Amino acid sequence: MTEWFTVGQIDQDTYAISEYEHWEQPNCYLLIGKTEAALIDTGLGISDIRRITDQLTKLPVRVLTTHVHWDHIGGHGLFDHISVHELEKDWLETKFPLPMDAVRQNLTCMSCRFPEGFDPASYQVYRGKASQLLHDGDCIDLGGRKITVIHTPGHSPGHCCFWEADRQYLYTGDLIYSGCLYAYYPSTDPYQFWQSVRKVRELPFRRILPGHNPLDTDLDLVDRIEAAFAQLYEENRLKQGSGVFDYQGFQIHI
Ligand SMILES: [Zn+2]
Ligand SMILES: [Zn+2]
Repeated sequence: MTEWFTVGQIDQDTYAISEYEHWEQPNCYLLIGKTEAALIDTGLGISDIRRITDQLTKLPVRVLTTHVHWDHIGGHGLFDHISVHELEKDWLETKFPLPMDAVRQNLTCMSCRFPEGFDPASYQVYRGKASQLLHDGDCIDLGGRKITVIHTPGHSPGHCCFWEADRQYLYTGDLIYSGCLYAYYPSTDPYQFWQSVRKVRELPFRRILPGHNPLDTDLDLVDRIEAAFAQLYEENRLKQGSGVFDYQGFQIHI
């Protein structure tokens, strides 16, 4: 049987754990410090991601959530320490914003070789308490390795990117990736999305680690996405219902 997860090594103590078998192609990241490890997002929850992280580190793993969408929190229940932005605490605990039917539709809308024993009909979105709330500018220390929380609302109200100043890595969640960027659901805000792209653009980074799709993301993608949003704003089209706009290597759906 094919392994559900693809593990990619970014450097000596950083790994990407990806689900390329599924059309969503989510990427999670394991960052190993000296005393603790962090897992940025836990993926679809179709297969056991804890089995993978246990093979990569013996340190305690805390989960950092980019945002509370089903495809980023699927494996949260496998871990004890969950951090989420304060604005999405309620989504995680009680009020997940999307109906289960819509989640199952996304899960199964493209053909997929699910792992043996997985039944899409009984799929449930994770629900549970946050152990820690995140705020813009918070610093998480894994022992010799510091991660800064960058609040980047727009795709969702509590969306966060994570930034490692020392390595100049920027983990961008659903803010920056090659593919279709979504700002059309009721809980999105296209204008805030643009402002968040502008915010991360100011940071020094030499590697973008996206929440979906291929890992080899060009650094100028941030500039190109920013320019696309700026033009939509100029044309007075940066509002929900405007449609899908196509650019080289990405789309914006608002
Ligand atoms: Zn999302
Ligand atoms: Zn996503």
